[in-house]
This record gives sequence, C-alpha cells and structure tokens, in this order.
Amino acid sequence: MKTYSIAVLEGDGIGPEITREAVKVFRAIEPIAGVSFDLRFAPFGGQAWFDHGTAFPEDTKRICDEADAILKGPIGLGTEASRQIPVDEQPERAGLLPMRKRYNTYANFRPVYLPPELCHFSPLRKERIPDGIDIMMIRELVGGLYFGEKERGVNGAGERYVKETLEYTDAQIRRIAHVGFQEARRRRKLLHSVHKSNVLLSSVLWNEVVEEVATEYPDVRLEHIIVDAAATALVLRPQAFDVMVMENMFGDILSDLGGGILGSLGLMPSACVGTEKSYYEPSHGSAPDIAGKGIANPYSMIGSVALLLEKSFGLDDAGRRIWDAARAVFGAGYVTADLAVPGQQAKMVDTAGFGDLVVAALKS
Ligand code: NAD
Repeated sequence: MKTYSIAVLEGDGIGPEITREAVKVFRAIEPIAGVSFDLRFAPFGGQAWFDHGTAFPEDTKRICDEADAILKGPIGLGTEASRQIPVDEQPERAGLLPMRKRYNTYANFRPVYLPPELCHFSPLRKERIPDGIDIMMIRELVGGLYFGEKERGVNGAGERYVKETLEYTDAQIRRIAHVGFQEARRRRKLLHSVHKSNVLLSSVLWNEVVEEVATEYPDVRLEHIIVDAAATALVLRPQAFDVMVMENMFGDILSDLGGGILGSLGLMPSACVGTEKSYYEPSHGSAPDIAGKGIANPYSMIGSVALLLEKSFGLDDAGRRIWDAARAVFGAGYVTADLAVPGQQAKMVDTAGFGDLVVAALKS
C-alpha cells in the first residue's frame, strides 16, 4: 500500500482544535483511498517561538523538507501575546513567509464556494445568489509587497519613516497568469485579472503580461477589473466571477471578503502550490477570540485535506468524497457557531462534533 508522509503543523489559537478534526478525516479516508498517511507533527508559529525560541524550528524544516506535503494550521497570536515577541521574530514574518519562500509556493488557490442549498449561510440575499457562489481566487503568494525590501528609520526632519517595496518580475506574473488561465480552462472559461493600473506601475506590467499570456488561451475570456471595483462586485454580483487572479496583497484582502460573502472564514480552505512542494492551510488566521472554546469551524482545515489529496497526490475521488461528506453534514442542518444565524433553524455542533459527523458521512 502506498504511504504518503505529511508534515502536520497545528499552529496557534484554534489551529490544534481544527487539526484534530483533519486528522480524523485522514484516518477515515485511508481505507477508502487505499493509501496510508504517515502524519508527522511539528511545532510552527507563535507557540513554537515560546517553546523553541523560533517560529520555524530547524527540526520542523527537516520534517517539512522530508514530507510529501504539508498540512498547516493557522498561526499568529492575539495582540498582547504578540507584543512579547520581537517584531522580526513574529510568526508570520519568521514562520509563514519563510515557509512560502522555502518551497516557492507561488500559487495560492482559495475556493469561495457555497452550493445553492447552503445559500442561507451567506449574508447576501438569496435573490443575488440563486445558483450559489462558485469562485476560484488565485493569489500570487511569493512576490509583491510582502516579500519586498523593507526599511524603517528616522529621516532628516527627525520623523519616523517606513519604506516597503513592491516588486514583480515578468516571469513571476507570467507563471501565475498561466495558473489562472489553466484553472479557468478547467472551469467556466472566464478569468478576471485584478489590478490597480490607474495608480500602480506594478499593475501596468501585470496587465501587459496577462494580455500576452492570454494569446495562448483563446478559449478563455479575459476581463480586467480594478481591485476596488472587484470588492464591490464580489458583494453585488458574485455570480459574475469564475476564476480571479491577483497579486499577493490584493489576494490576501479579497479572499477574506470571499469568506465574508460565504458567511464565515471557517468555510475557506486553501492550497499553496509550489514548484516542488505544496502546503495546505485555512485562509483564515488563528482566531484567538474563540481559541480553546471548541467552537471553531473545522471545514477550512478539512477542505484543506481534500485539496491536499487532489493537488499533491491526484487522489481526486478521495478529495471529492471529503467535500461531499462535509457538505452533506451542513446539508443535514448541522452548523458550527460561526454559521448560526438568529431566527434560522439549525442543529448546533461543536468542532469535534462536526469532525465526527464528517467521518460518519465518509463511512456511510
Ligand atoms: P482571523 O482570521 O483569525 O479571525 C477573523 C474572525 O473570523 C474572528 O472573529 C474569528 O473568530 C473568525 N474565524 C476565523 N476562522 C474561523 C473558524 N475556522 N471558525 C469560526 N470562526 C473563525 O483573523 P485575526 O483575528 O485578524 O487574526 C488572528 C491571528 O491570525 C493574527 O495573529 C494574524 O496575524 C494571524 N493570521 C494568520 C494567518 C495564517 O496563518 N495564514 C492568516 C491570517 C491571519
């Protein structure tokens, strides 16, 4: 039997709680997929800094290097705990960005999906989303402002200043544009390229390169949309979108808006695909406001397992079974606290209860 090794990084806040449910799903899918998973746990994030003095310990790097794929929980701390860690050693700067760089995970897939029968989760009126919501947001993940040079100091006038650089090369834009077009080709053949070329020179180059790549995909309709207009359109007419491709920071922000129109960030799994290795994580953060309460929605982590099986190992059937099982649980009227809407009938479950129901659905 084929065995895949998976580095499992539980992370901070709700990370360990939702990872437990992902592990249950790994175990339940093994006999269905006819494979086994060697899950290797390793510390990563804010807690790793407190326990090991670094957000990304050397042992964790080794375990990730050796693994076939990585499942990562959210990392990050609440404001008070963050203050105890020097700025340069905080988990995103010293853990998350280095991980993205190490594995060159340049393509971040963030599905924003709600089938019509679950439209009541969305804060949008049903008339606006008669067919549900089905968007694939693709975020460039290793370039732009988050990876540019940074400088902080005091200028000649004695004022504190900061300088951050937004850099993209032709090649970086080209490869993510190809990812966008290829994904659109697999779906409804519509690609929105998000930009801000009326202000940013980086977006002028972005648009030029995307246009060049478009000539290789005559079957895909390309639309350019300014990022601020995209934010409005996502709320007013999300059905206008199929695949969206965008640079790093635009993707960070718009994909949280994606979680908003679904009804919760807990519905946002993601895949961070690299040239040699990929890692999978919820799109959201560590939710310190609800950590330890057992009420987090583990769908984002369970969906990340499904993406891992599909994208890293080509186990599409197993992935589909997980999506179907998780959606069947919602379809049967169960909700976690984040999805409960006053006045709507629902059967409330906690984090572990949701995971157990997904496992039961997988086995049935
Ligand atoms: P957040 O995404 O953690 O939470 C925003 C809101 O969504 C909160 O009300 C939270 O309770 C809710 N939420 C998020 N996930 C949920 C889930 N699965 N179920 C139910 N509710 C959920 O954003 P934040 O509070 O701004 O950030 C918290 C920490 O996470 C910060 O330290 C931030 O830097 C970090 N962060 C990490 C990542 C990552 O690891 N990739 C991403 C974003 C933020």
